[in-house]
Amino acid sequence: MNITIDDSAGFCWGVVRTVNIAEDTLSKNQTKKKTYVLGSIIHNPKEIDRLAEKGLETISINDFEKIADEKPDVIIRAHGEPPSTYDKAEELGLNIVDATCPLVTGLQNRVKRYHDKGFQIVIYGKVNHPEVIGIRGVINDDCVIVKTVEEAMQKVDFTKKTVLFSQTTMEKPVYQKIKEAIIERVDNFIEGGETKDYFQSKNTLCKEVWGREKKVLDFAEDNDIVIFVAGRNSSNGISLFKHMLVKNPNMYYIEDLNELKQEWFENVKNVGISGATSTPQWYMEKVKEEIEKMTELELA
Ligand code: SF4
Repeated sequence: MNITIDDSAGFCWGVVRTVNIAEDTLSKNQTKKKTYVLGSIIHNPKEIDRLAEKGLETISINDFEKIADEKPDVIIRAHGEPPSTYDKAEELGLNIVDATCPLVTGLQNRVKRYHDKGFQIVIYGKVNHPEVIGIRGVINDDCVIVKTVEEAMQKVDFTKKTVLFSQTTMEKPVYQKIKEAIIERVDNFIEGGETKDYFQSKNTLCKEVWGREKKVLDFAEDNDIVIFVAGRNSSNGISLFKHMLVKNPNMYYIEDLNELKQEWFENVKNVGISGATSTPQWYMEKVKEEIEKMTELELA
């Protein structure tokens, strides 16, 4: 049996950067100062546990008062935060270590610029996703969040000058459909003038996610079964898995190697291991070792 780890899977550069910042902060602080992260550092429990062993503690904003006397470092993860979080930290004397992905910071800045120019802001995303909460915060929630074409048709005010953005990890085909549906409505609404004067779309989907899609689809096709390793709450993981499933129905989504089942590997020649942008390489290696152990036992 051949077991291959997908070389396009694993941390995106934004997550690598965040984890490096966390590691550097932990090693600088050691026992001298506490290091916290606001919310789970990434959507992967294995990586969270690894960093927790080094001293990284996960907190929520409600813990800010409780930890204020320690004057700790508080890491902001790749998803970013709304300005109110920075304000509260400053008020309480907490030192923010900002590990927001630069693409997310760029998205927040662009949304703010268009909002300042008087555009109605429409965001294709999940209303309570941390990245979207951060974006909502920079414009005081003055925006419309939609997940589907139907929602866009109900919630967008087509009499207003509008701009469409996307949460970085959403699905490109749905973004495209929402964009086309809005253009159609705007075209029906305007008399004279050009659509672009009333509606603009900014594709802010992350290329790290979508650039990977073709590669993972080929990987799904090239293997008899694929073990997809990702946190259950990883948007990117869920989305990639759904796409790969179309190419290969023999896919299994696992978060922990204890979920592996021996019967999946019976009469199988090529096993692939893939994952999301938040799946650590070291954990995919462990999954590979576990499958090797399991299948060796079976042969013995
Ligand atoms: S998926 Fe893209 S936007 Fe998100 S952290 Fe990675 S590089 Fe940044």
